[in-house]
Amino acid sequence: MTRIVLLPGDGIGPEVTTQAHRILERAASLHGIPLDFEEGLIGGASIDAHGTPLTDAVVEQCRGAQAVLLGAVGGPRWDDLSVAIRPEKGLLRIRKELGLFANLRPASVFPALVAASSLRPEVVEGIDMLVVRELTGGLYFGEPRGIDRNGPERIGRNTMVYSDVEIERISRVAFEAAMRRRKQLCHMHKANVLDVSQLWVEVVEEVAKDFPEVTLDHQLIDSGAMLMVKDPRRFDVIVTTNMFGDIISDEAAMVTGSLGMLPSASLGAGGVGLYEPVHGSAPDIAGQDVANPLAAILSAAMLLEHSLDAAAAAASIRNAVSQVLEAGHRSADLILPGEDRAVTKCKAMGDLVLERLA
Ligand code: NAD
Repeated sequence: MTRIVLLPGDGIGPEVTTQAHRILERAASLHGIPLDFEEGLIGGASIDAHGTPLTDAVVEQCRGAQAVLLGAVGGPRWDDLSVAIRPEKGLLRIRKELGLFANLRPASVFPALVAASSLRPEVVEGIDMLVVRELTGGLYFGEPRGIDRNGPERIGRNTMVYSDVEIERISRVAFEAAMRRRKQLCHMHKANVLDVSQLWVEVVEEVAKDFPEVTLDHQLIDSGAMLMVKDPRRFDVIVTTNMFGDIISDEAAMVTGSLGMLPSASLGAGGVGLYEPVHGSAPDIAGQDVANPLAAILSAAMLLEHSLDAAAAAASIRNAVSQVLEAGHRSADLILPGEDRAVTKCKAMGDLVLERLA
């Protein structure tokens, strides 16, 4: 039995994770993969029960699993707590404990949802890209950092630092992803200004020698950000640093138009993958059965593909989602202003995907 830990979290996290769990279990069993599920607390739910956003016991539970499927954490109820025990700390800790250095954010557009983007349909149709963001190094973690006093002046400082080892391992993840896709990799950088980016260019070129089938190009992050809205279809896989990836992956997401549709995967050296929707806990709609569960469901598809090597089962989930959308079913967030459609609720959306899986 392959063990999967579910960490539903807060707000709409439990609602969308319940649907993703049902679909993951069914898709896996249809493809002959027996799964064993355990559930744990994270975020506000864990603070309420244990006074901490993530217990050591849950960390151990996740370490012993093949993969973790997470909902979302946070909400106004815990906003006044000190930063050290806020719900988000649970998320940061589990990523750190599992050594998750690669964040994979696909951004593609289901044909039925082309109109949801703020870009013209002819620009959006056929977008299918994957941003591979380095997650544990760079500007967000580099030392020295902090705000110091220098006489009357205050000086704020962060350091962008990467070793060749860190660059190499994230580059390999990106090249391997490109090999499974259209075999194009774009490295986004700022090598005209930053020394650390020059090292990235060198190391990415070195790794490229092991992937001769992949077409590699290096793109300045600023012009890359412009191309992302001008001609997003040109991109297949993008690899970049923690900070550039933070920004460019959100830009890629918004080009597709729907926050409720975006899955993500975080992978590391330890072998345990963490899968979660990109959206947050949406406290404004929590508990009403109106959240869109498709981002969580598509995260379950990524889990099958990346942690269980079950590409066919993953594709069956994506096909089922596509069919449900083609049939005209929409959760509230996917209905455009002025569109006359009935709202499909969270559980009902899960039921529809489940029906099409069989
Ligand atoms: P959010 O993503 O939770 O919500 C933004 C907007 O999108 C809201 O109007 C919400 O109703 C809507 N939305 C989000 N997901 C949806 C879905 N699946 N279906 C339908 N509508 C959806 O972001 P926010 O409002 O900035 O943050 C709310 C809380 O979530 C905060 O506590 C924040 O810290 C937390 N958060 C957590 C994560 C995470 O767990 N990874 C990520 C982002 C924000």
